[in-house]
Amino acid sequence: MNLDAMWMPFSANESFKANPRIITAAQGMYFTDNTGRQILDASAGLWCVNAGHGNERIINAVTEQAKKLDYAPFFNMSHDIGFKAAERLVEMAPKGFDKVFFTNSGSESADTSLKIALAYHAARGETGRIKFIGREKGYHGVNFGGTSVGGIGFNRKAFNHLLPFVDHLRHTLDIERNGFTKGLPAYGAEWADELENRIFTLHDPKTIAAVIIEPMAGSAGVILPPQGYLQRIRDICTKHGILLIFDEVITGFGRTGGDWATNTMGVTPDILNCAKGITNGVVPMGAVLVGNGIYNTVVDAASEKTIEFAHGYTYSAHPLACAAMIATLDVYRDEGLFERAAQLSPVFEQAAHSLQGTPFVKDIRNIGLVAGVELETSSAGLGKRAGLVQQKCWEAGVLMRLTGETLAFSPPLIVNEAEIERIFSTLGQAITEVA
Ligand code: PLP
Repeated sequence: MNLDAMWMPFSANESFKANPRIITAAQGMYFTDNTGRQILDASAGLWCVNAGHGNERIINAVTEQAKKLDYAPFFNMSHDIGFKAAERLVEMAPKGFDKVFFTNSGSESADTSLKIALAYHAARGETGRIKFIGREKGYHGVNFGGTSVGGIGFNRKAFNHLLPFVDHLRHTLDIERNGFTKGLPAYGAEWADELENRIFTLHDPKTIAAVIIEPMAGSAGVILPPQGYLQRIRDICTKHGILLIFDEVITGFGRTGGDWATNTMGVTPDILNCAKGITNGVVPMGAVLVGNGIYNTVVDAASEKTIEFAHGYTYSAHPLACAAMIATLDVYRDEGLFERAAQLSPVFEQAAHSLQGTPFVKDIRNIGLVAGVELETSSAGLGKRAGLVQQKCWEAGVLMRLTGETLAFSPPLIVNEAEIERIFSTLGQAITEVA
């Protein structure tokens, strides 16, 4: 196979091509690689295949839709399945979210949400609200807005000119006080107060359009909000007329042991971004959800018969994505997958935390069906030890995400107890071998 023509995304191209991992098929919990090996998918692909691979209902829905209507524009035109998809998503969205703006990815959801925030404030005459606040270690995709509000230094530093008028709060990882916590950590709610301090000392509250936060930071290594932290952020935003955006691209669709982190963590944002599990990864799609208040403000401010929000993608509400989304939501509901995730959470938690005490295990963090196992960094450099462990697990037939020194686990919600046991015993074995 000639690998030369491909510039791989988010990959070390040259070293990968020297030792490639090539997937040729997938079914249920397993990938098949080009040598015919079965690999247990402990990360749901890239946190997206929540209903497992090769689900027939989803595939059939997409196939049938392709035969019926492959594509039609959605700019001042429409198709039935687009409206149906919006209705279905609103039905299962947290209370208070009435309108859906479709995108094609989590990155597009991030940038769309920032633009909605600006348009909303402008519509109310608050045109001075132009700043955004993100967080260190936050990940909101790779477009300009998302990269700018994102807080993973490595993702930012090659691009010298990101959006101006962006500030970042500190992250909430505090292994010293919260190490090996199960669920939401006890300490650190006070870090939310940094938001209020900062907007008074460095900004003026009336210049801030929105704060964007992942309820659980996934890509930086499963970092959970301390108990009470999100509520304090919510209260500060409300007090100062700042919109709160939750990026639920990973946490949506059952990952945290309930439908949305908004519900499992009990704090409601003004704007909710999602993607990934929305179509089970079968067709790219993302969405931004808002309440009627935001929608009406933007729409009512425009003069009649003009485009109220000059934004949208050629593939917004793509018919195949809509078909995949409706079928995926049917599968989640009919197979009770969010309930299953909640039921399996204690088993998953226990299996992950059984590795406490294994050499070089620095921290274990978890909620629902997601866990991060952070290792001590070796003298070889950041990520080297975890990289070796990940490679050993791959050789043993288990795939998980690697981010810095953290191995992240987010299996499809169809995972069973034996597979959970295998995932963490393979990890324990690999760590011991690398040590
Ligand atoms: N936001 C969050 C929280 C994510 O985890 C991701 C992807 O991992 C994104 C946004 C970007 O999504 P995409 O890769 O679909 O653009």
